[in-house]
Amino acid sequence: MTDPILKLEHLHKRFGRATPARDFSMTVERGEFFTMLGPSGSGKSTVLRMIAGLEYPDSGSIVIDGRDMTSVPPWDRHLGMVFQQYAIFPHLDVAGNVGYGLRRENLSREETASRISELLTLVGLEGYESRNVNQLSGGEQQRVAIARALAPRPAILLLDEPLSALDEKIRREMQDELRSIQQRTGTTFIYVTHDQEEALTMSDRVAVLNEGRYVQCDRPEQIFHRPRTPFVARFFRGCN
Ligand code: ADP
Ligand code: MG
Repeated sequence: MTDPILKLEHLHKRFGRATPARDFSMTVERGEFFTMLGPSGSGKSTVLRMIAGLEYPDSGSIVIDGRDMTSVPPWDRHLGMVFQQYAIFPHLDVAGNVGYGLRRENLSREETASRISELLTLVGLEGYESRNVNQLSGGEQQRVAIARALAPRPAILLLDEPLSALDEKIRREMQDELRSIQQRTGTTFIYVTHDQEEALTMSDRVAVLNEGRYVQCDRPEQIFHRPRTPFVARFFRGCN
């Protein structure tokens, strides 16, 4: 076994009366598609933002690839992030948006162009370089955001409900697409969703969160067929 790519140890985070992380410990293996699943307010985004360095824990530690990153700023963590809202730049074309992800790589013009084209092929947008991002569909814009986030070859890609703004049909297409991108690049994905079906179909492992803790962390079949607490059983029965 190689060392895990991520270790969260006893993370604690409080905002006034909310405690989105309570003694939260979790390990993610290299190359995994790992999902944090839970109802709204269970702490998923806060945990993801602490991994990214966008929030700092009150206590506990974050070890990425063997290095203690607990107080390292986000830009030195070598992570990529994709949000629900695409957060792409409307004033740049597709190539400009993806190229932004390469700005710290010191590549020549030719190398940049060929890497952009490779990334666009990866996300199914071959030949889209000079397209205006405002004229792309929601799904296509999210593909651009994914290509930009993967451009610097991050050790981990963090995704916070990246498909929730898309309509049903596109969302299903994108689920398959994301899984395939993850497998082709071998990048570790840490994925946040409140959608049970999405978590079960895409992931290698799923952590089910409730009130700042995870109540079960297991393979999808185990979570579905052997819920370990009444909360998990209800969560899968109640919705959808
Ligand atoms: P989820 O992503 O699972 O919906 P969040 O991590 O966004 O959950 O939020 C968990 C809890 O923490 C909620 O009660 C939320 O209101 C609270 N919270 C999150 N971020 C902040 C913040 N910056 N300030 C105050 N409360 C926050
Ligand atoms: Mg959230």
